[in-house]
Amino acid sequence: MVKAAVKKSSPGFRVAGRKALIVGLAATGVSSARFLKGSGAEVVATDMKPLDELTGAGALMDLGIRIDAGGHRLESLDGVDLVVVSPGVRTDEPILNEARRRGAEVISDIELAYRFIDCPILAIAGTNGKTTTTTLLGEILKDSGKKVFVGGNIGTPAIEITEAGADYDLCVLEISSFHLETTRTFNPHIGALLNITEDHLDRYRDFDDYAGTKFRLFENQGEGDYAVVNVNDPVIEKRVSRGLTRGKVVPFTVTGALKEGLFLKGGSIIYLNGGAEEAYPTSEFRLKGLHNIENVMAAIASARLAGVSREVILETLATFKGLPHRMEFVRMLDGVAYVDDSKGTNIGSLMMALKGTDTPVVLIAGGRDKGGDYSVLGGLVKEKVKCMVLIGEARFKMKESLGGLTDTVIADTFEEAVKTARSKAGAGDTVLLCPACSSFDMFRDYKDRGDRFKRLVEAL
Ligand code: ADP
Repeated sequence: MVKAAVKKSSPGFRVAGRKALIVGLAATGVSSARFLKGSGAEVVATDMKPLDELTGAGALMDLGIRIDAGGHRLESLDGVDLVVVSPGVRTDEPILNEARRRGAEVISDIELAYRFIDCPILAIAGTNGKTTTTTLLGEILKDSGKKVFVGGNIGTPAIEITEAGADYDLCVLEISSFHLETTRTFNPHIGALLNITEDHLDRYRDFDDYAGTKFRLFENQGEGDYAVVNVNDPVIEKRVSRGLTRGKVVPFTVTGALKEGLFLKGGSIIYLNGGAEEAYPTSEFRLKGLHNIENVMAAIASARLAGVSREVILETLATFKGLPHRMEFVRMLDGVAYVDDSKGTNIGSLMMALKGTDTPVVLIAGGRDKGGDYSVLGGLVKEKVKCMVLIGEARFKMKESLGGLTDTVIADTFEEAVKTARSKAGAGDTVLLCPACSSFDMFRDYKDRGDRFKRLVEAL
């Protein structure tokens, strides 16, 4: 059950009269700046981009907020005692190190929002599956009749909860590891951690550093809080046995059974909770794939802990069909299935995509490399991938790691990649776009990449 009344996490925290610096002026930074200004702070904002590329800057200047654009300069810190960092900004930027040296409080927008959120928070973290799980959980809670704010990494910045002018019953937040680097008191009443596999190694010292940041989700939990965690993930499992939270651990797994928690048995997800047993038949879910069973398990546990009935959860699961660009079926052509998994931007998601595909795969992969080791995919590539078409900056690195294991073609354009994939695929195969890389070398973002893929496939 959710707590009846929720404390303000930091009663002593004040904004009025302080001078705040916002670092990073994308959507989150703009919302934070507006909020702080509206709360009586003097606000300055800085971004690496020039002023004319900062949408939203004009409206902030109209509010009397100074914008220091085109690079971070130390003068921006003059008189500043509170710094709010947007998730896209590295926390070791010199301006942030200098702010800390001067004794300013440096926090993420999530930490700022947390200090003003009055309802229980349900937070979802993990390398993959966050957006799917956050959206699903938000839908379940809404279908139960609760007034729910859904935001964070997923789109609406968390701080906008304060602007909506409504009293929410619950707040569901998608949390990235970037947010968790600069949280201090942030404490979700129910925190779910889906998995931890290699990602963003271009931003972290090493894998342990990245994993450690994810575990910060539970750092401030106390008795009465819940950690819903995938114990099938070896990194998480190890940490659970060493002590993860002061709250209660609710484990889930897609392999084997558990004495308590969620697992698969006879075509259903079983939830064992203090002697009570509930079943959720997977044939009734619209979401498909083993990875989605993990996401559903996290959503079921979180929703039940928040007081939602099994019946409501099953109703939502019967209609929720997932999100675009995540193992999205595009079309059948000549017996070949075309699948858009453009959101598969790291090695873990490609691993899942291959594990979850039963047919031979013609894989389109590559893009901007994130510093991971592709060779861990070797076994799966050998077993499932009949041809690999490689694109983008990472194409040669991927070819070096995996090219010896299957037929491999380098494509210089995306159009060429799709055409080659078609020519290599036969009836019964799947052409899968799952890049295992980010998109920014060739596309605006993963949505642009997925939409272009769909258009090219429709035109075949
Ligand atoms: P995130 O918000 O964490 O990036 P998404 O729900 O947007 O997660 O999915 C991102 C990618 O990860 C997609 O390619 C999707 O197919 C894959 N994915 C989704 N859920 C999982 C999971 N539980 N484990 C591994 N991969 C997953």
